[in-house]
Amino acid sequence: MVVGDISTGTDVAVVGAGPGGYVAAIRAGQLGLDVTLVEKDAYGGTCLNYGCIPSKAMITASDVAHEAGNAEEMGVYADPEVDVAEMVDWKDGVVDQLTGGVEKLCKANGVNLVEGRAEFAGNDKLRVVHGGDGQGSETIEYEHCIVATGSRAIEVPGFEFDSEHVLDSRDALAMDDLPESMVVVGAGYIGMELSTVLAKLGVDVTVVEMLDSVLPTYPDDLAKPVKDRAEELGIDFHFGLAADSWEEADDGIVVTAEDEDGETTEFDTDKVLVAVGRQPVLDTLNLEEIGLEPNDDGRLETDHEARTDVDNVFAIGDVAPGPMLAHKASKEGQVAAEVIAGEPAALDYMAVPAAVFTDPEIATVGLSEEEAEEQGYEPAVGKFPFSASGRALTTGDPEGFVRVVADEESGFILGAQIVGPEASELIAELGLAVEMGATLEDVASTIHTHPTLSEATMEAAEHALGHAIHTLNR
Ligand SMILES: Cc1cc2nc3c(=O)[nH]c(=O)nc-3n(C[C@H](O)[C@H](O)[C@H](O)COP(=O)(O)OP(=O)(O)OC[C@H]3O[C@@H](n4cnc5c(N)ncnc54)[C@H](O)[C@@H]3O)c2cc1C
Repeated sequence: MVVGDISTGTDVAVVGAGPGGYVAAIRAGQLGLDVTLVEKDAYGGTCLNYGCIPSKAMITASDVAHEAGNAEEMGVYADPEVDVAEMVDWKDGVVDQLTGGVEKLCKANGVNLVEGRAEFAGNDKLRVVHGGDGQGSETIEYEHCIVATGSRAIEVPGFEFDSEHVLDSRDALAMDDLPESMVVVGAGYIGMELSTVLAKLGVDVTVVEMLDSVLPTYPDDLAKPVKDRAEELGIDFHFGLAADSWEEADDGIVVTAEDEDGETTEFDTDKVLVAVGRQPVLDTLNLEEIGLEPNDDGRLETDHEARTDVDNVFAIGDVAPGPMLAHKASKEGQVAAEVIAGEPAALDYMAVPAAVFTDPEIATVGLSEEEAEEQGYEPAVGKFPFSASGRALTTGDPEGFVRVVADEESGFILGAQIVGPEASELIAELGLAVEMGATLEDVASTIHTHPTLSEATMEAAEHALGHAIHTLNR
């Protein structure tokens, strides 16, 4: 026992108040369980404080600035002046409103909030350290524990984050004074979203990517419009190069990158943003104490109820297998809470949507055509280009398409891919279609409001059936 220890007991201890943990805690509270939620930093986790929300706020603000200055085609002439410090203040206000909301919702649902860093201290016991010196700690005895400790940015050797020259996404979203130039290492979704924001705010952006394309986990026809638009914004891409080292120079820094033959290229820049992916945070939890070990991927293996190999310990969100996405974390949190409360609940990953908030946006759900084939389906595919959508033309942004993948024989919708305006919103209808087992006929015969972007979904379904009206059928 450390001096100042107090001891409490709870039905459910949740470690981490991100979109996984706080949702699990609220749901458990709704189900009448006594819940304790432990958070060492900020309510809302990475998503609300340093990830989804701040990045989307900055994406919107940079879009407004860029669109206002580039609307001559519509007869609008403006030369917007951007005050980045004010923009960041506005973004912080949005974040504060949401994190305050999380705290209120937790309290309203009877969740006990404990601030501090938790680690396992024996079977069915957590130790929570309130301060840095080990003083003022408490022991929480639990019936069930939900691990929701999330993830952190991966460091590239030689590029330790220092918030000054070498930034992670969190640092980049907090800059209230923009550099003239930035090298972004990694063309995945975080690298591409932030590169686009920076370029729209006038930063000279160079992207260095080890593989040979942007958004390498997405099909080429979805990623290409994003790369084309990024190049129009002046982003300079270098593929097949791995960031190797950096050093200070008289004026900024020099980043050196190497190709597979060992040939090096140097980039003079002000700062470097490293966005090569994220790794689960499990190393500070003292997992050995309860006999749990992360898998090769650094995650905790879970079953269809989000339960780990230790019966009363659950793992959700970025520390559990699957895509690192906030809505996946929240769903797992709900399921874990319901299972603990004895409700019939299970995880079903048939329709996890994913969105990239680049320009244009990309969104996917369910199976691609190739995945459908691999799973033994004979896919029927329908596609509708936004260039044929009246609403897309009136937004001045008719790039991209909606593609629907269905089972030819039964008509069941298996998945969809969208690149274009509001893809992140439009995917919801097709997510519902996959989830409820809707057919192409269901979507095609649903009357959609005119003129809207969502009509493209109906047309894509009609196209798969061979009777689209506003595009040519094969
Ligand atoms: C720049 C960026 C943009 C993103 N954009 C999107 C997006 O648009 N859509 C999307 O779906 N996802 C997005 N993500 C991913 C999303 O943020 C994560 O998938 C999501 O936050 C995972 O939720 P989580 O609850 O598992 O963990 P987190 O949100 O990481 O929360 C974990 C919490 O646990 C706390 N914690 C850790 N260890 C301890 C401990 N020992 N004791 C107490 N507390 C602890 C941490 O302080 C943290 O608050 C983005 C991420 C980044 C970085």
